[in-house]
Amino acid sequence: MKYLSTRGHADRKRFCEILLEGLAPDGGLYLPEHYPQVDDATLTRWRSVYHEQGYAELAFEILSLYIDDIPAADLQALCHKTYTAEVFGTGEIVPLRHLEDGLWLEALSNGPTLAFKDMAMQLLGNLFEYELARRGEELNIFGATSGDTGSAAEYAMRGKKGVRVFMTSPNGRMSPFQQAQMFSLQDENIHNLAVEGVFDDCQDLVKAVSNDLEFKRKYKIGTVNSINWARLLAQVVYYFAGYIQATERNAQKVSFTVPSGNFGNVCAGHVARMMGLPIERLVVATNENDVLDEFFRTGVYRVRGSADTHETSSPSMDISKASNFERFVFDLLGRDAARTKRLFGEQLSSQGRFDLSADPLFAQAASRYGFASGRSTHADRLATIRDNFSRHGVTVDTHTADGVKVAREQRGPADVPMIVLETALPIKFAATIAEALGHEPERPARFEGIEALPKKVKVIPADVAVVKAYIESHCP
Ligand SMILES: *Cc1c(COP(=O)(O)O)cnc(C)c1O
Repeated sequence: MKYLSTRGHADRKRFCEILLEGLAPDGGLYLPEHYPQVDDATLTRWRSVYHEQGYAELAFEILSLYIDDIPAADLQALCHKTYTAEVFGTGEIVPLRHLEDGLWLEALSNGPTLAFKDMAMQLLGNLFEYELARRGEELNIFGATSGDTGSAAEYAMRGKKGVRVFMTSPNGRMSPFQQAQMFSLQDENIHNLAVEGVFDDCQDLVKAVSNDLEFKRKYKIGTVNSINWARLLAQVVYYFAGYIQATERNAQKVSFTVPSGNFGNVCAGHVARMMGLPIERLVVATNENDVLDEFFRTGVYRVRGSADTHETSSPSMDISKASNFERFVFDLLGRDAARTKRLFGEQLSSQGRFDLSADPLFAQAASRYGFASGRSTHADRLATIRDNFSRHGVTVDTHTADGVKVAREQRGPADVPMIVLETALPIKFAATIAEALGHEPERPARFEGIEALPKKVKVIPADVAVVKAYIESHCP
């Protein structure tokens, strides 16, 4: 399997070559040259693989279709090391829970940081360690987080050989639980930098460091952001596992509703559907930051300025542009790389928007690719959390609530189960849950009292020279 850039660069790369990279050299995103097709017999076989051998073995089957530069036995061992009941809380790894008529929740949030990002990041940690050892190289991951991504990265990379993590976050702006999760890590290779400023200041620091090519090369700076193909690929697996749990025969279809921000999660659903998984619809649920809902309703993709980006109670979906969206548009345009490059490389930077409403291809987003969308507000979120609690005794987190709200609006025929992806556990966003229910959500036993643990964090000014000096002094 070879990978290409959505913007038409001539290079074709293999999986391990793009594993440690971010964007393609022309600024595009990597995608496989084609989507491997899963036929009826294979899907039937994967049913027993999942039920009898488990999630890790299913992951190995799917990843093998995309990764041909890691020996099979090694890849299999990496999958089995990653997806264990110890790390993910249950043997099913992603159990389905019935909510109400035709509506299911797929639990993706029982990993170490209680958000779905663990599903991909835990595998990435093991893949990075494996590949770096094979090359005899080291990597310094430098990133910015406002919550979920940074902690998922740290828990995936902690104690891994050859990898250090330097993670900036806006000082004092994450929830107390999120701060405790990250700052309580005492591992030598994990460095928390609390920046005096807001999230944008952290992102500016990351940009400034990545633009200094000499520093970047000398200190082997890398990232783990959501455009990484390996993360997306790892997420494809749980769409298959959700389908297999919700159905008994391959003639049956399901739909998914996905709480979305950067379009990474639902893009994995698109890949699964392109492989032939019988998905009827992929419903994109947004919060007040409705860049994606606007596109699927109108054909206009309009990135927001920071003044136009709202701070909401489902903060992991607070985006101004959706960094994985280019992958889907590339497919929607019949893989026309020159046009993708004009839209994303030129028109978006000069005009901040593009408009496909008049193009007949736009209608195919729904008709051919199954996409639909909806949006949810703070009031919807509170109402959905209350309603699920009072009618079903189930507490959902704020992002998942956005998904449930939109899923109820978009539920199709009764014989097509609608699966809502549960992207975090409620304890991570306790203040909003308390606002909705009048009491705090349940806390898993292993997180009892984490706010009181000793913290390892360095408060620094939003100054790139200070950041560079910190990195220099912590690399031998
Ligand atoms: C990251 C995240 C999302 C959004 O996922 P994307 O892949 O960016 O669309 C939704 N919910 C939670 C809890 C998250 O952490």
